[in-house]
Amino acid sequence: MPELEPIYNSTVTCPVCDKQIKVTKVRSKFVKLIKQDEDFCPYYEQTNPIFYEAWICGNCGYAAHSTVFNDATGNDQKAVLDKLKGKWNKRDFSGERDIAKALEAFKIVLYNLQIRSGSFSEFAKICLRIAWLYRYKGEWVNEYKFLSFSLDYYKKAFTGEHLTNGKLDEYTCMYIIGELARRIGNNEEALQWFGKLISASIRPDAKGKVPPLILENAHNLIYDIKEAIKNEKKNDQESGNKKTS
Ligand SMILES: [Zn+2]
Repeated sequence: MPELEPIYNSTVTCPVCDKQIKVTKVRSKFVKLIKQDEDFCPYYEQTNPIFYEAWICGNCGYAAHSTVFNDATGNDQKAVLDKLKGKWNKRDFSGERDIAKALEAFKIVLYNLQIRSGSFSEFAKICLRIAWLYRYKGEWVNEYKFLSFSLDYYKKAFTGEHLTNGKLDEYTCMYIIGELARRIGNNEEALQWFGKLISASIRPDAKGKVPPLILENAHNLIYDIKEAIKNEKKNDQESGNKKTS
């Protein structure tokens, strides 16, 4: 019996150009999560399914996150076909992806969101995945840049979009805003958002809606930030004392 490969191709119909295209998926038995960072960045034992989340139609250039690939509207179709006409090099995006290929694919999705005027939450999600890919590569400057973009988009989504439990709920949104602020060094802003989340979680209408993990993480991160601020002050005082002595 041939050995089972971690990835396989599946045929889907592009909702923009109606052509049949191949997308690559990861077999669930090969998806073994080892750990997750506080901003949900996952680490896997073998194949990383994040690499395969950006689906691209090699024929017309339409691209989206796999979970919303089929949601293209008539306006999306028009925008993609009008704006990519004559510019798109037809090519195949199926097959194995490394970090570099995954980054290329997510950047095509990001460009697509720009020409389609995508939702803030979708922009936020894609920028966060690009930040994670740079984290895997150890490229902090690029990671920081995309964490900052993602933070801005999550804040716009929080105030400007109707957040539902289906995709992004308001509690997870508050948590991720706090965590992204913390990661880029905005500790005060992070404390505000974690505090906001904790206050919201005790409202009667929040009962049963707040994922316990994010609440626990928020409490732990508040503690960590406060400790870090305390240590910073201590270090500042010590270096101040040294200078004056
Ligand atoms: Zn297409």
